[in-house]
Amino acid sequence: MRVDVAIVGGGIAGVALAARLTPHLKVALVEREPALGSMTTARSAAMFLPSYGGPDVGPLTRASRAFLTAALDPIGVIFQPRQALHVGRLPHLAPFGLTQAADVPLEALSPRQAVNLFPILREDVIDGAWLEAEAGDIDVAALLDLFRRMALEAGAHLMVDTGEPGIERRGDGWRLAGAHGTLEARILVNAAGPWADALAEAAGVAALGLTPLRRTVVLAPPVAREGFSAWPIVKDVRERFYFRPYHGALLITPADAQPSRPCDAAPEKVDIARAILRFETMCDHRVARVERSWAGLRTFARDRAPVIGWAPDAPSFFWLAGLGGFGVQTSPAVSQLAASLILGEETPAELTAHGVDPRRYAPARLAS
Ligand SMILES: Cc1cc2nc3c(=O)[nH]c(=O)nc-3n(C[C@H](O)[C@H](O)[C@H](O)COP(=O)(O)OP(=O)(O)OC[C@H]3O[C@@H](n4cnc5c(N)ncnc54)[C@H](O)[C@@H]3O)c2cc1C
Repeated sequence: MRVDVAIVGGGIAGVALAARLTPHLKVALVEREPALGSMTTARSAAMFLPSYGGPDVGPLTRASRAFLTAALDPIGVIFQPRQALHVGRLPHLAPFGLTQAADVPLEALSPRQAVNLFPILREDVIDGAWLEAEAGDIDVAALLDLFRRMALEAGAHLMVDTGEPGIERRGDGWRLAGAHGTLEARILVNAAGPWADALAEAAGVAALGLTPLRRTVVLAPPVAREGFSAWPIVKDVRERFYFRPYHGALLITPADAQPSRPCDAAPEKVDIARAILRFETMCDHRVARVERSWAGLRTFARDRAPVIGWAPDAPSFFWLAGLGGFGVQTSPAVSQLAASLILGEETPAELTAHGVDPRRYAPARLAS
């Protein structure tokens, strides 16, 4: 098969890009696993947190809000508002407010006010909190499915269970050979998540030093109190933990960030224990049992900004990687930006209106 663009990686990044590009170009997407979105995308905590990720991520998150809140799926809405409480001790509390406040409205709360919102939180373990009112929950499966259907309806070829294709540079383009057969493409997009550096190397393109960091999530029974499912996300200002109601359960993470090789990550007992300990230190509530746990790899560039753009050493190789802990909440804007760069168009006005500047994400900044 001959296409304009071959996207390698069927997580949220690759599938969203296929949805955006297929109306304009002939697109094929290649996913090694039997299902789309089964690696990092399936492991997320499903939050929309405008304060997360700092000044390079904020514009992409803000520019994604309109798509997420408007997008309707046959099975329901994709975005549900939920407040976030950023809790901590002095002196860490004050700089959090200062650094986030410019872009994100935050309200300073006393410990008592914070406890009124999350009634099992211990008042004596915090000096205060910042309330972020514009956070929310994302239905990740519904969002992925929406992008998948957009891509299919526009005529994309979405191939799963392909194994790892052999990649060869052919003249100005690329040849991918694997279980799916042979694919020839003018442009190769690297949307391989934790495997992005490995994929680049397999294609003869310089790796950019992306690091996968493992993060663990524990699901415990819900807190048997009225209104629990509407309680806010509680997140440490220094990102040493967060916990939240999640699909009828209590989700806790110790916010671990252990460097890992790219793999299908699994939780370690010590991180599960740490999650419970941190939660029980913060709350008057015992975790009766662990219902489920999982881990995933958040992949970061060394400056923690996403990597979106052409490879400096291979003009038809496009990077769509380094989406850290924000790849779901930014997927509408990230895919729109990537599509505009591939199509050689100006950055869309919906993105520039929120301060999105493609130069911040150019892979060339990481080449050495
Ligand atoms: C615990 C945890 C909590 C998180 N919470 C949030 C959150 O609340 N909000 C948020 O926005 N983000 C969150 N994230 C981050 C988010 O999940 C990621 O940023 C996002 O899923 C990255 O998507 P991706 O498509 O780049 O990667 P992936 O989903 O990993 O997709 C990459 C795909 O490429 C495939 N692949 C790799 N190599 C090849 C190859 N050679 N051939 C074919 N296929 C290949 C893989 O099989 C994989 O399916 C969280 C992540 C974790 C781990």
